[in-house]
Amino acid sequence: MIEFRHVKKVYPNGTIGLNDINLTIGKGEFVVIVGLSGAGKSTMLRSINRLHDITSGEIVIDGQSITSAKGESLRKMRRGIGMIFQSFNLVKRSTVLRNVLSGRVGYHGTLRTMFALFPKRDVELAMKALERVNIAEKAYVRADQLSGGQQQRVSIARALAQEAKIILADEPVASLDPLTTRQVMDDLKRINQELGITTIVNLHFIDLAREYATRIIGLRAGQVVFDGPVAEATDEK
Ligand code: ADP
Ligand code: ADP
Repeated sequence: MIEFRHVKKVYPNGTIGLNDINLTIGKGEFVVIVGLSGAGKSTMLRSINRLHDITSGEIVIDGQSITSAKGESLRKMRRGIGMIFQSFNLVKRSTVLRNVLSGRVGYHGTLRTMFALFPKRDVELAMKALERVNIAEKAYVRADQLSGGQQQRVSIARALAQEAKIILADEPVASLDPLTTRQVMDDLKRINQELGITTIVNLHFIDLAREYATRIIGLRAGQVVFDGPVAEATDEK
């Protein structure tokens, strides 16, 4: 469902981010990408939803090239992809509910958001998403009053409210303590299993990867050095 065809990403300063990546990720997979800092993990995720353009090659999602998509069709493809960051990327002074609603289309800085006139259906969808990650009781709390783990669950809910078919999580637990790390990884895994959302998570640590992934992709210097089921992944990086 996500296909990398000879994907190469060279940054403007000449640094190679990805060097000829070829792989296919199937619907509903829970893939963990591992590799040392600078290996290309983040570059790989950012290429999928076109947070940046790749230099050559092509990325195809459900048979449609996101590399060559434009205008409304690009926006539509992006809507199907939820992104989760290490730093949560919530609007700190907004409520949890508003943050989750921002995953729905067209709510950024519109008159509607100023007067909080959200269609009932969207509010219901957002509340359901918050319930799924067990944080609905915080719906009217300001985002910056939540702990890191709670904020990360809100950002997962935002992806769900967006009705994403794919979740890309870029070091989602890097700033969390071990207990909270587990809660967030458990949520991602549960959502993957319950809703069949294709999930790709970047992690520093192979131990966590082994515990949660069904498939591990190892990157080094922009190239795939391992790709297979968890049982075959070794500590060698
Ligand atoms: P990882 O996520 O595995 O830590 P990255 O994808 O962030 O790795 O980085 C891959 C390589 O690309 C590294 O050498 C990094 O320094 C470089 N890189 C990442 N972003 C940029 C950028 N905006 N400009 C130049 N080089 C970059
Ligand atoms: P993290 O992986 O923890 O998010 P990074 O240091 O990889 O942090 O990246 C932070 C930002 O800096 C990103 O926008 C990335 O694209 C950019 N960046 C990373 N490496 C380089 C680099 N060598 N040159 C320029 N920008 C970079």
